[in-house]
Amino acid sequence: MQILTGLNQNEIETITDALHQSKFRARQIHNWIYLKSAKSIDDMTDLSKDFREELKKVAKVTDVKIKVKQVSSDGTIKYLLEYPDGECVETVLMRFDNRANLTACVSSQVGCAVNCSFCATGKRGFIRNLNYKEIIEQVLTIQRDTGLKVTNVVFMGQGEPLLNLENVLKAMEIFNESFQIGQRRLTVSTSGIIPGINELANLDMQSTLALSLHAPNHEIRKQLMQIEEKYNMSDLKIALKNYVEKTGRRITIEYLLIKDLNDTTESAKQLAEYLRDIKCNVNLIPYNPTADNDYKRPSNNSIMKFKCLLEHSGKKVTVRLERGADIDAACGQLKGKVN
Ligand code: SAH
Ligand code: SF4
Repeated sequence: MQILTGLNQNEIETITDALHQSKFRARQIHNWIYLKSAKSIDDMTDLSKDFREELKKVAKVTDVKIKVKQVSSDGTIKYLLEYPDGECVETVLMRFDNRANLTACVSSQVGCAVNCSFCATGKRGFIRNLNYKEIIEQVLTIQRDTGLKVTNVVFMGQGEPLLNLENVLKAMEIFNESFQIGQRRLTVSTSGIIPGINELANLDMQSTLALSLHAPNHEIRKQLMQIEEKYNMSDLKIALKNYVEKTGRRITIEYLLIKDLNDTTESAKQLAEYLRDIKCNVNLIPYNPTADNDYKRPSNNSIMKFKCLLEHSGKKVTVRLERGADIDAACGQLKGKVN
């Protein structure tokens, strides 16, 4: 039995050829999958009934199940999906009242090996990579369930995308070509895997790179993220500048704000200095509590003060709106379990 999700036009043609159907039929099936979010072959109403019956003998739309669906008071929806081998990941749909964008936050791995001290996913350890079909299934599940078309995808769910780069790149290609989501609307967030950043720099892509920096200096970063031992901030800076030079794209720097740890005036100044010659915007992420540590979220006042200090250095700074915290769908709260 073939699973239609994840197949490109040529691969679908192989199926329609075997059933002695035209390429136009393949095109119709392709559009039903990616643009019209068919839930089943029976939904594909512009195919003849006979052909649908033939197709159903050899193919089905998906083999992924929605295990849990939670809707936040702010409209964010979190899905826990189950793959045929029983592994589960979350995918989150975010909508912002003032914008037409529908952003899917997708997972790239089950668990994560990087194990940052503030992140619930890392606490689980690494289970396995998702293949590209399993990644795009997440967006299709959202589209099928809501009947809406996703406009932006961020790789900010479970996992470190640059440690599963081949599947992530293939998924991005399909988001671009089959879902018709522009490259600029695709964002890959990394904890700072330098070889992956260098590989991305060499591809001529218009997608956005987001770097989870989270610290103004080596000592604090080491405390927060073990990965700093392997890929430290000075080497990262070289990789980031190379990325900007090769792609011409501005990087997004993500900076988690934790009370009394990296939210001080001194930290803001050091951060501004570190970023001075990197072409970037800064996205401040107030820490979202997870069960496993004592970190605290700073007050709104200190968040605003930190923001102002950075803005004085000439950077564009935004504060990430917290989405879906009441259903544990906010950044860092995903762990692939039923609560
Ligand atoms: N592995 C990638 C992408 C997934 S995490 C990365 O680390 O960049 C997406 C973002 O959520 C990262 O910036 C991550 O540092 C942040 N995050 C993790 N735990 C968090 C928490 N408890 N509160 C707020 N943001 C968190
Ligand atoms: Fe992995 Fe990202 Fe969580 Fe760190 S923050 S443990 S890299 S998912």
